[in-house]
Amino acid sequence: MYGYNCEYCDGIVRERVVEKEVFKHKKGFVMLENVPIGICDQCGYRYYNSKIMKKVHEIAEGKQIPARTEPIPVARYVYEMAC
Ligand SMILES: [Zn+2]
Repeated sequence: MYGYNCEYCDGIVRERVVEKEVFKHKKGFVMLENVPIGICDQCGYRYYNSKIMKKVHEIAEGKQIPARTEPIPVARYVYEMAC
């Protein structure tokens, strides 16, 4: 399902199973584990197929029960003003 040309460079999008990937959804964040995503071998742009996006959508909408819920730590990066 992957293996096509990258939309942004001359690289090839290759399938890689990543341990964890966080998806942003309008209802919040959904994390999938051991998910096969497409990653460009040159620029590293990540591609998600429609099956993955459907799962993210269903979990975010509450149509599928997640395996568990984890709080996602969020850090705010503070720019220090050099003066
Ligand atoms: Zn690329």
